Amino acid sequence: RRRVLCMADELTRLIIEDDKYISNFMSVSLKNEGYKVMLAQSADEGLFLFSSNHPDLVLLDLGLPDKDGLEVIGEIRGISDAPVLVVSARGQEREKIEALDRGADDYISKPFHMGELLARVRVIKRRLDRKPAPGADSVFQHDYLTVDYDKRKVLVDGTEVHLTPIEYRLLLLMLANKGKVLTHHYIVREIWGYDPAGDTQTIRVFMAKLRRKIEKDVTKPRFILTEIGVGYRFADE
Ligand code: CA
Repeated sequence: RRRVLCMADELTRLIIEDDKYISNFMSVSLKNEGYKVMLAQSADEGLFLFSSNHPDLVLLDLGLPDKDGLEVIGEIRGISDAPVLVVSARGQEREKIEALDRGADDYISKPFHMGELLARVRVIKRRLDRKPAPGADSVFQHDYLTVDYDKRKVLVDGTEVHLTPIEYRLLLLMLANKGKVLTHHYIVREIWGYDPAGDTQTIRVFMAKLRRKIEKDVTKPRFILTEIGVGYRFADE
């Protein structure tokens, strides 16, 4: 019998979620988008399916019956860079931040609208599709913001703005992770090289200064978006 091949065969999503209602709901929507979907109801089953099938994206519930979802992220990161989208219950703020710190790519809180979930999945896919071509990325240009990496110049509406070295590194870090949520801890570790143990004030001050320089309206940021209580995300579009 002839096997029908289509593009959807190439993209597999693994859902690790013990709530059958939620996993079926996610599965149906992802299948409608043309993805191949695998379901696991426990951490161990999920890790087994992960290592045997190499999915392109994992949707991971943090509250699993056999193991903490945070451990699952650690185990996946031990063997792969495949994106992990955490699906957490409302009120699990600490777990959410911990998940991002351990290498999850994004999170969504239950209850969520399917449109929101699919949008997050598309953002991750776009980021994976953006393979940096050598030499092609010497200038970032989007809307009214231009960053010339070679000349270390930042322009807003064509007018150069002067950033301090730390502000410039912050901007580069955000740009390198476009669309991805970066936690306060992650940013401070990357920029200052130490873990601030809860000191998020420093990062807020520097981010506010950077925003005043590159955003036209700091009350409605166009580029550097706040993820309340978690960190920041550079706008994907
Ligand atoms: Ca659960």
